[in-house]
Order: sequence, then C-alpha cells, then structure tokens
Amino acid sequence: MDLTLTDEEREIREWVRTFVTRELMPLEPRVLERERNGERGIGLDEVKALQDKARQSGFFGIQTPEEYGGMGLGAVMHALIEAELGRSFVQFKFGGDADNILFEANAEQKDTYLRPTIDGTRRSCFAITEPGAGSDARNIRTAAVREGDEWVINGEKTFITGGDVADFCMVFAVTDKEKGADGGVTCFLVDRDAGWTSATIPTMGEWGPASLSFEDVRVPHSAILGEEGRGFELAMRWIGKGRYLLPARALGACERLVEMAMEQAKNRVTFGEPIANRQAIQWMIADSAVEIEALRWLVLSAAWQVDHDLDSRQGQSMAKLYGGVHANQIVDRVLQIHGGMGYTRELPIERWYRELRLLRIYEGTDEIQRRTIARNLLSGRASVRGHLG
Ligand SMILES: Cc1cc2nc3c(=O)[nH]c(=O)nc-3n(C[C@H](O)[C@H](O)[C@H](O)COP(=O)(O)OP(=O)(O)OC[C@H]3O[C@@H](n4cnc5c(N)ncnc54)[C@H](O)[C@@H]3O)c2cc1C
Repeated sequence: MDLTLTDEEREIREWVRTFVTRELMPLEPRVLERERNGERGIGLDEVKALQDKARQSGFFGIQTPEEYGGMGLGAVMHALIEAELGRSFVQFKFGGDADNILFEANAEQKDTYLRPTIDGTRRSCFAITEPGAGSDARNIRTAAVREGDEWVINGEKTFITGGDVADFCMVFAVTDKEKGADGGVTCFLVDRDAGWTSATIPTMGEWGPASLSFEDVRVPHSAILGEEGRGFELAMRWIGKGRYLLPARALGACERLVEMAMEQAKNRVTFGEPIANRQAIQWMIADSAVEIEALRWLVLSAAWQVDHDLDSRQGQSMAKLYGGVHANQIVDRVLQIHGGMGYTRELPIERWYRELRLLRIYEGTDEIQRRTIARNLLSGRASVRGHLG
C-alpha cells in the first residue's frame, strides 16, 4: 500500500496551492466587504478573468475529456484540487467543465449545449427538486405531456443552483405517471427563452439558488436528453457524479480554519498565558486535526475507488456524511477559539460557518446518506470491512 502522492499529483497540487495563495486569497478582504454591503462577493466577469488566467497554464476542464479540450484528470487529482480551492472562501472553480450527463447528449445537442457549456458561453442548471419532492425525488410532479412532435411542460422546481443565471436547464418531468421514476421520468434540455422563469431564493449563505416555474413551456421532441423515460437514472448519475468533491472542498476549508485557530490560540493571552497552553483549547485543536485526517482519507479513498471503476457509492456517501457533520463541528470549534471576534463579520469564520452548513443538506442530506449507508450494509452490497473486503 502506497499512501504517497505521485510526482504529477504533487506538482499539480502545488500549482493550485500557489494559484489560491496568489490569486484568490488577496481577493478575500474585498469579497468580505462586498458581501457585507449585500453585493455579490466576486463577479462572474472576475471569475472568468481568473479562469482565463488559469487556462493559460493549462488549467481547464479538470475532468473534461481531452477530446473536448479538457485536462481529463482522474478523481483523486480532482479531489486534491478541490481541497486546495476550499482553502479560500472566494467562490471560484476552474473553467471548462460541464455536467456529466450532458455527455449523454446526441451530436446536435452536444453542439448546442455541451460544447458551449465547456467553453463557458452557456450556463446550465440541474432541476429535479420540487416544493413537494426533495429527498424523495422519485415523487416529482412536474409533468411533460406529448402533443404531436412537441412536449408541454408544467410544474415548479425549487432550490436550483445557478437557476437565476442559467440560460438552459436540464429539467426532470414525469412523462408516464403509471411508471413514475421507474421508466416514466424524462430529462429535457430547455432554453430559458422557451419560457421558464426563475426567482432567487435568499438563504443563510452568500448565494441563493432559484425556484423555476414552467407554465405550458413547449419544447420539441428533440429536447429529450438521453432516452425518454430514463431521466431518473440520469438524475441519480448527476447527483452521484462527485459526492467526494463536496467534502473535498470542505476539507480544504477545515485545514485553513484550524490553521487560523492555532495562530489565534498562540497569540491570544488570557490570565497571563496564551490560550494555546490550555487543555480545553488543545483538545479542540487535536479533535479537529484527527477529523481532518479521517476526512482526507475518506475523500481520497472514495476518489480512488472512482478511478479504479469500483462501486464507490458507499465510500462516497461516507465521505459526504462525515464531511458534512465534522466540517460543521470544526468550524464551530474554530469560532469558539476566536471568542467574540469569531462571531463578528470582521473575520470570515462566521461566513464559513453559514456556508458549511449547506453540506449537510444538498446533494443528499445527512439522513439520506445514513439511509444509503445502512441499506448498502444490510443488503450485503457493502461490508463494514470497506472496499478491502
Ligand atoms: C442551497 C441549495 C442548493 C441546491 N441545489 C439544487 C440543485 O441545483 N438542483 C436540485 O434539483 N436541487 C437542489 N437543492 C435541493 C436539495 O437537494 C434538497 O434541499 C435536499 O435534497 C433535501 O430535500 P428537501 O429540502 O425537500 O428536504 P426534505 O426531503 O423535506 O427533508 C426534510 C428533513 O427530513 C429528512 N428526511 C427526509 N426523508 C427522510 C427519511 N426517509 N428518513 C429520515 N429522514 C428523512 C431530511 O434528511 C431532512 O432533514 C439545493 C438545496 C439547497 C438548500
């Protein structure tokens, strides 16, 4: 067993670490100030300029296949990159990626949707959640009814990331009520100018998802992504694409937060001594470091399973669950170590506190991950001995 990084992994990780330190961290004070004034922390044009800069060094389309101009890197490499990006709260991702299910598109759809999404000239959003169906996504009600060579879509979607800026959506609708999620849900690629509307939902985070409304939105039969009736499988594939990537980003955030806490603990003197000398503080740091280490290996092990074409669902759910629960505990401890200052908006800790809370909810709540993990174990699909068996 070799738990070291390859030269290539180390080199790429170092490049990203330098990029984060030189390009993203200096923006942090400005981002915080703008957010305090109720503005967007970083503009889409600023993100684009940074993406273009990174592209000049070859950083484009981390997991996008080389035939589409991407780097075609593996899951472990992607997890390492996300962890580096997570060290800054500046909302940035490298350009050149596209939703995994868009690669299912036919040749014409690839030209209209996939390639422009990779180029960054079009923006997608993924819309399955509805006011009455979140965890229970099999229960969606948005319906598409066929009329001749067209489909007419009616329904409401909610909490759609990027729904306010997307110019097309991948929307999931019931096309056969009898079959429901077992062959009766279809995914449609729908341009905004086909008539759907969006409204931003304010959240405790610094960005809001959107609700989408479909009222007699007509699309041609050719708008179907993949096969008619196979939409639910596509949706599950989208959600399952990278459960290891969300906790990977949280891992980076936790590393930085604990570094901040240690710095604070060494400098803050109470009752004549730095608080770092107190066992109460040391235990918070020690517990956080152990949890970070455990999270790192859960994330990397899940990513490694993806790279080796193993069934990674159990590993990914474990990484997502553990990351959500423990990143929240860690940021809470770090806030505690900073005392009153931790609670202010002078420091980014309360911002991370609000942002990391989301990890326990989206792309499968803690409870749904636990349900998956227990079901896999009880059905014999997975073992408590992990992938080593
Ligand atoms: C900021 C944000 C961005 C999002 N982005 C997207 C997106 O881009 N596209 C999209 O389609 N959706 C998106 N979502 C939706 C997200 O995936 C859902 O909110 C999530 O799946 C939970 O669904 P729900 O909110 O309806 O909660 P519910 O399903 O109503 O759950 C409520 C509570 O009950 C628990 N619960 C539910 N069922 C069970 C059970 N069987 N056993 C035990 N406990 C249970 C849940 O864990 C939760 O604690 C986003 C949500 C947020 C907040």
